[in-house]
Amino acid sequence: MDSKGWLAGFAKLSYDFYKVRYSKFLNTMDEPIIDLNSDAYFMGEALRQARKAFKADEVPIGAIIARDGLVIARACNQVETLKDATAHAEMLAITQAESAVGDWRLTDCDLYVTKEPCPMCAGAIVHARLRRVVFGCPDPKGGGAGGLFNILQNPALNHRCEVTSGLMLDDCRGILREFFLGKRGGGKRIDE
Ligand code: ZN
Repeated sequence: MDSKGWLAGFAKLSYDFYKVRYSKFLNTMDEPIIDLNSDAYFMGEALRQARKAFKADEVPIGAIIARDGLVIARACNQVETLKDATAHAEMLAITQAESAVGDWRLTDCDLYVTKEPCPMCAGAIVHARLRRVVFGCPDPKGGGAGGLFNILQNPALNHRCEVTSGLMLDDCRGILREFFLGKRGGGKRIDE
């Protein structure tokens, strides 16, 4: 092999090595830049809260509230920790958001929660007049956003929310299943 051939071979080898070594980086260059205002980003933040609850041995549900593209409240279920049946992620997030906004009206705020809100939380959401509710895992047995009742969009009430369901469903349901499988060896009910 002459020196030119050797050099070409070396360059090719180096390039292949670089490709393997940095393939993760190269691949991300083809993906769209993370949109910090996207539903997926906010639900990802809610999922982080759900993981926090899981670690604390709480039913893993997380919620965040966004306003003008910023997260103004984040909370996870803390029923066991606080020994309070009302300490659902959404309730705690609503209280935080109200204090961040300085008003009980959250009309320009959106709530992201990993599981469909229960009737209590749905009632609080209507009272606080949140603009939009995005949830991951539906709860046909006890949900207050269309699962059992549709409190969020009841025409008789004085406020209705825009609702998006099933966002990042696999992740949101997966963490609940994992929790209940570990707890009961069954995971029959996806509930709080
Ligand atoms: Zn609830």
